[in-house]
Amino acid sequence: PDLLRDSKVAVYGLAKSGLAAIRLLVQKGARVTALDARTEEALGATARELKAQGVTLVTAPPPPGLLESHRLVVVSPGVPLALPELQAARAAGVPVWGEVELAGRFLSHVPLFGITGTNGKSTTTALTGELFAQGGGRTFVGGNLGRPFAEAALTPEAWDALVVELSSFQLEGIDSLRPRGAAILNLTPDHIDRYPDHAAYGAAKARIWRQQTGADFAVVNADDADVMRLAESAPGPVYGFSLTGQPVAEAPRLVGLAVARPGGFGFEGVGDPGETFTLTNRALRGGHNTQNAMAAALLARLGGVSHAAVQAGLDSYPGLPHRLESVRVLEGVEWVNDSKATNVDSVLVALRAFSRDVLLIAGGKGKGAPYAPMVEEGRSKVKAVLTIGQDAPLLAQAYEGVARVYPCGTLADAVRQARALATAGDTILLSPACASYDQFQNFEHRGDTFKRLVGEL
Ligand code: ADP
Repeated sequence: PDLLRDSKVAVYGLAKSGLAAIRLLVQKGARVTALDARTEEALGATARELKAQGVTLVTAPPPPGLLESHRLVVVSPGVPLALPELQAARAAGVPVWGEVELAGRFLSHVPLFGITGTNGKSTTTALTGELFAQGGGRTFVGGNLGRPFAEAALTPEAWDALVVELSSFQLEGIDSLRPRGAAILNLTPDHIDRYPDHAAYGAAKARIWRQQTGADFAVVNADDADVMRLAESAPGPVYGFSLTGQPVAEAPRLVGLAVARPGGFGFEGVGDPGETFTLTNRALRGGHNTQNAMAAALLARLGGVSHAAVQAGLDSYPGLPHRLESVRVLEGVEWVNDSKATNVDSVLVALRAFSRDVLLIAGGKGKGAPYAPMVEEGRSKVKAVLTIGQDAPLLAQAYEGVARVYPCGTLADAVRQARALATAGDTILLSPACASYDQFQNFEHRGDTFKRLVGEL
């Protein structure tokens, strides 16, 4: 780290993580060159602030040789490491680090708990942070979620524990990061645009424990065969979590297991004999959240948090917005915002969390996947479907003969109609199965609009 003083460092990609990396580098006295595909004009206020800090701006792609004149290149997770200019810098002997690697170098004295997987990363990270905080430790929670990891490195003495969400892109950019605990939640086909195949995607995820030793531990989904195969490469003891209690056959040596049971979950071979936890928090409903809770509890318990504090955190966890978020109970009807559900798989997971009487608001900019699985999952519980946006006709077709469909067009109309249709005991669930871009800026905008409309009722 001291080598950074007066050294030339290039930062590639000026979104949140890149900007946080620059703040850290400036604090360390480095001379920073910032690169982004956007021009100075397009960067606007960001460009002005960077220049005020003495940062040199370059519009990417950089001229040949520019990166090679730096001592280090730091990349944002959004920038592919395969870019020819980054490859060239590497070939010339210039280290290329992700923002997480840079930050981790200043934080190796603090125990780090890293969380990755295709789905559930943000929930598990936020929840794990809550459990550690209940344990009394000064806990940094961030990474891919919320605050960039580099922000933790600005005040390295401020933390007792680091709980960090790591996307596969971030994991590609680490070398020396050594989590005390590393969790892989699941592995489903994703990001096929950036990885040649499923194995390459899995390999990126397994980088999370590459620098671990026998003194560290891994937490894995024992019901997921792909994750269990990856777990064979974990250097330390492996702990599993399972909804079924029967881990997949090819399971490697599991040292301990968390198993779901009615109303909560129990530990085998972890903590004190026969430890159990209750799960009554509405922000953690659904089997998928039981998995997230088991992963978080294993990380926390193995990371030294007491049983009582873990239970307190499971109870106090406030939930993340737009993920099965309970908005309001009005006249006995619960309104739930699941705007983050931008694909059919997420709607499946949401519907499994309810047993009956759901009025589903869905639609938007579809992704081309068939809607049949969610129709099937909701067969006995979805009473009516209120469609919005571009894919409304396709949804109507999929639900034909299964549930009443009300074409609404807009979200405002769907909220009005849903209220008129609902009776006490029903749940009105916004879980769109589609992207939002046809009618909203993003899923947050869609969810916030829903919450405002429901608040006005
Ligand atoms: P990520 O940060 O990985 O995107 P989130 O916690 O934000 O994860 O959850 C995103 C969506 O993924 C949720 O809205 C839900 O539909 C689904 N999901 C959450 N946890 C799980 C899980 N353990 N297994 C499968 N799907 C999940």
